[in-house]
Amino acid sequence: MTTGKINVSVENIFPLIKKFLYSDHEIFLRELVSNATDATLKLKHLTSIGEAKVEYGSPVIEVKVDKEGKKIHIIDQGLGMTGEEVEKYINQVAFSGAEEFLEKYKDTAKDSGIIGHFGLGFYSAFMVAEKVEIITKSYKDEPAVHWICDGSPEFSLEPADKTDRGTEIILHVAEDSTEFLEEYRISELLKKYNKFMPVPIKFGTRTETLAKPEDAPEDYVAETVEVDNIINNPSPAWTKQPSELEDEDYKAFYHELYPTQFEEPLFSIHLNVDYPFNLTGILYFPKLSSDLQVQKDKIQLYQNQVFVTDNVEGIVPEFLTMLRGVIDSPDIPLNVSRSYLQADGAVKKISNYITRKVADKLKSLFTENREDFEQKWNDIKIVLEYGMLSEPKFYEKAGAFVLYPTVDGKFFTLDELKEKLAATQTDKDGKLVVLYASNKDAQHSFIATAQDKGYEVLLLDSPIVSHLIQKLEGDNENLTFARVDGDHIDRLINKDEAQLSKLSDDEKETLKTQLETIVPKQTYTVQLEAMDSQAAPFIITQPEFMRRMKEMSQTGGGGMFGMGNFPDM
Ligand code: ADP
Ligand code: MG
Repeated sequence: MTTGKINVSVENIFPLIKKFLYSDHEIFLRELVSNATDATLKLKHLTSIGEAKVEYGSPVIEVKVDKEGKKIHIIDQGLGMTGEEVEKYINQVAFSGAEEFLEKYKDTAKDSGIIGHFGLGFYSAFMVAEKVEIITKSYKDEPAVHWICDGSPEFSLEPADKTDRGTEIILHVAEDSTEFLEEYRISELLKKYNKFMPVPIKFGTRTETLAKPEDAPEDYVAETVEVDNIINNPSPAWTKQPSELEDEDYKAFYHELYPTQFEEPLFSIHLNVDYPFNLTGILYFPKLSSDLQVQKDKIQLYQNQVFVTDNVEGIVPEFLTMLRGVIDSPDIPLNVSRSYLQADGAVKKISNYITRKVADKLKSLFTENREDFEQKWNDIKIVLEYGMLSEPKFYEKAGAFVLYPTVDGKFFTLDELKEKLAATQTDKDGKLVVLYASNKDAQHSFIATAQDKGYEVLLLDSPIVSHLIQKLEGDNENLTFARVDGDHIDRLINKDEAQLSKLSDDEKETLKTQLETIVPKQTYTVQLEAMDSQAAPFIITQPEFMRRMKEMSQTGGGGMFGMGNFPDM
């Protein structure tokens, strides 16, 4: 037997990195700005523990585009690198200096917000650049160095005359990537990935008008100044403690996150956990009734304030993907496929945590201000009803706040409803009969008849209502649902096998035959019985069973309920 070592030659790996490291070339900027951020945060940490005896100051990261020179510059005032460190961190592909740093300072630096992980980020520069330069000076008292590499495994390293601390990365943008020399493109990328990163990022300057002085003369001309154009908010709301934030702050952050959303969110849920996994974030319930179809503003996933994706499938329980907001967790494995994610234990825990947190918040909103909750019910019910059907953990908790509205504007919890029905709406077998309508106008005469008898009629009009009813009946033996137009009211709530018709058998037969030539038999039933309150000679009903089967097949069965109008699920 022979054993040996597989020889990986860098020549072969470079083109692979370029092609396959990330499917999206645009993330090079995210990676380089992340490194600049890490370098700054590392310095911050080292000064705070007294290991770096330099002034930390208020460092800024600068991104510059030089369209003529076909270059992009990323400049930081972080800890920099010595020549030796460039050899160690840059020339070794897949060696993560960030991981090494966290390992070395694990007692003090675990909350430092360091982003790097895999030691591959830097090389993403070669996805868009034919040549990359690093000019860097360490905070340690050592000469600056200049590293140049054209994407082949050869590089050059020589002294440089940089005098201030930090690192400048220069990308010589390749022919096929000139889109990144457009300012608007870089600006767009910075806004997408870096909008909430923890170190200020400068991209150009902008003009600011100075406030008019109190003693301004009449012919005062507004004065303007050029100021740094800082594209990010380094301390977004979700990184703060809930106790520091007011309702207004949550709303303001919502608009910061979704600048094109003008409607206010209904309420927000602050997520904040550090054991057994790390996760922070803020979720918002938007008004959903109107725009279920077009959901472009989705929940955004961040890692240490770096935007990763707005596809949170598998991480956030499906019914909550209709919410908006951010989730920030360094503990979500991202470089793996989504199907693996779903099977991952840690991710399942995260998803369960979010479900629980949302349920708890709903419960407290309900108990603290029931009236307000009732007012918002119509806008949130679709999410909650869907949650009851798809997440057993949510269903368990839902009893405490899920509401059942009546046609005349009252709201019951399930327990309250049962109590109410027990007094009046039981049938001869002792079952509680929940009467409901799906359309107040179309079913108004049936509703009126039921109300005349003193019965409560619910208004259940969500597209998934038949599924929900099926589930509630399955779990509450004593409960049966009947739509008001499903049968004669005295048969829907059958108290004593009532004999309802006033017609003779012959009359019935003739009338029925005639009517059935105009009413489709498959869907409707002709009943030759008067509705007491209206002295109508007959009624046409839609039997519960047939109708429900039809509805359920239309909204699909099991799993997804095939809700065509649910966004991207
Ligand atoms: P990671 O960030 O996962 O550690 P990268 O490939 O992105 O891996 O970077 C490799 C290493 O190079 C970093 O860990 C860091 O030590 C060093 N490095 C990269 N960019 C900078 C920078 N701007 N300033 C200082 N060090 C840097
Ligand atoms: Mg990195």
